Amino acid sequence: MPPLASPPPKSSPRSGRPRPELIFGDLWPYDPAPETADPKLKPRYDLFIDGKFVPARGGKYFDTINPATEKKLAEVALAGPADVDAAYQAARRAADGVWGRMAGRERAKYLFRIARLLQDRAREFAVAETLNGGKPIKESRDFDVPMAAAHFFYHAGWADKLEYVAPGRRVAPLGVVGQVIPWNFPLLMLAWKIAPALAMGNTVVLKPAETTPITALKLAEIFQDAGLPPGVVNLVTGAGATGAAVMAHPIAAKVAFTGSTEVGKIIMRSLAGTDKKMTMELGGKAANIIFDDAPINQAVEGVVNGIFFNQGHVCCAGSRLLVHEPVAEAVIAKLKQRLRVLRVGDPLDKNTDVGAINSREQLNKIRHLVDVGVKEGAELYQAPCPLPARGFFFRPTLLTGVTQSHRVAREEIFGPVLSILTFRTVDEAVEKANNTAFGLSAGVWTDKGSRILKMSTELKAGVVWANTFNKFDPASPFGGYKESGFGREGGRQGILDYAKLV
Ligand code: NAP
Ligand code: MG
Repeated sequence: MPPLASPPPKSSPRSGRPRPELIFGDLWPYDPAPETADPKLKPRYDLFIDGKFVPARGGKYFDTINPATEKKLAEVALAGPADVDAAYQAARRAADGVWGRMAGRERAKYLFRIARLLQDRAREFAVAETLNGGKPIKESRDFDVPMAAAHFFYHAGWADKLEYVAPGRRVAPLGVVGQVIPWNFPLLMLAWKIAPALAMGNTVVLKPAETTPITALKLAEIFQDAGLPPGVVNLVTGAGATGAAVMAHPIAAKVAFTGSTEVGKIIMRSLAGTDKKMTMELGGKAANIIFDDAPINQAVEGVVNGIFFNQGHVCCAGSRLLVHEPVAEAVIAKLKQRLRVLRVGDPLDKNTDVGAINSREQLNKIRHLVDVGVKEGAELYQAPCPLPARGFFFRPTLLTGVTQSHRVAREEIFGPVLSILTFRTVDEAVEKANNTAFGLSAGVWTDKGSRILKMSTELKAGVVWANTFNKFDPASPFGGYKESGFGREGGRQGILDYAKLV
């Protein structure tokens, strides 16, 4: 950027509002540009069972907050075992009755309708997602909500073509499916779970994460508007105990879980010996690998996108950077430069790159692991940006000089923290990238097509992106190796995971 002739004015010429503190002489701050669509929140949300909103039998509610302000957004019913059971009974009736018997082409119409209604209300849903989850509005507006609609569209397209799910075999629905999802993509994870299950003719009982129930409950309004038959989708809100009840219920023919490896293991242990089918989408510790022939600016942008744009709240986040020694110094210098101009703050502001951490608990976990990294000898660099006085925020952080034995190289931090290691040879890059208990995703940055092919066969990861990162498509199956789980979501493989071969 050329130097400015005169320093930027202290207040905005348009609004007259004082500008935020300047960090660098040559950086013009943007005026705030908050998204103003009304999220249409209700003060209180009940459970969604058998097509109706009903209070929990225990009469208890819990608060759900905006992590960027710590203010209460709404109160949400706390489902106990009796509510979970009622949800399963409703799902069972719908599976045995109308939904299980309906022709695929008719089910498709409901899925199309849900997708269209979600598109109609996209801005409202994006604001609700950002308010409840803390992610920047440009993420929820440009990624979460359109991708959720895309999943319903895509699976609507499958519902009348199920004979192609397993060519040569006949497929049938499993029955009722229990699903539990995390807080990082509340609406999108719900779409990943519900759309294929419904297309195949199953009915579901789903529990959203405790901290982010709102968009799921708003989508229940769309299910009603779409005329979805009662009991096809049932939503039970609550914390871990509610999730455990959803996973353990005897009616569930299959359980699908997305969340931490730790909780995934608890669920697998508790279901061992039952005949429930399972899908587990668990944690990750993805490596972005930059070779010395890579387009460096593009690679740096991809790495920043992969770990900072969603506060690192992404299971497949590129939380490790493996950089080829000849370019390590240049890459780290460019990363620091890029971090200095990331905009951290109000998630509703359209200029914000890095929003709020989802909860105080998660913020404390990130702080703790970064402290551990520093104690173990990593060198810390943090963006010098101002942070809002309230709410849960964490500065985009680089940890350099990390070695494979450091906890920050092995454990999932799930925050805007990048651990940087170096390598000298292709084999060393593969060895270091695979030296983790996880295997969800990886990124390779190089000019050589042959190297991309070699790396993608040798990396033990469900997805390998080449010269890009965090790209998704409903037609492309997603899932992990090793402790990142098993089963696939998306594509033909994803829908097959909700089918019985007959
Ligand atoms: P989490 O603590 O494992 O929670 C996930 C969900 O499980 C939440 O709804 C949670 O309820 C519920 N839960 C907690 N204890 C349970 C139990 N004993 N039985 C059944 N359900 C239980 O994970 P998180 O912290 O919300 O999410 C972050 C994790 O999800 C990260 O590890 C991330 O990598 C992973 N993730 C993976 C993928 C993927 O596709 N592989 C995608 C997104 C996220 P509460 O909300 O009340 O805790
Ligand atoms: Mg949790």
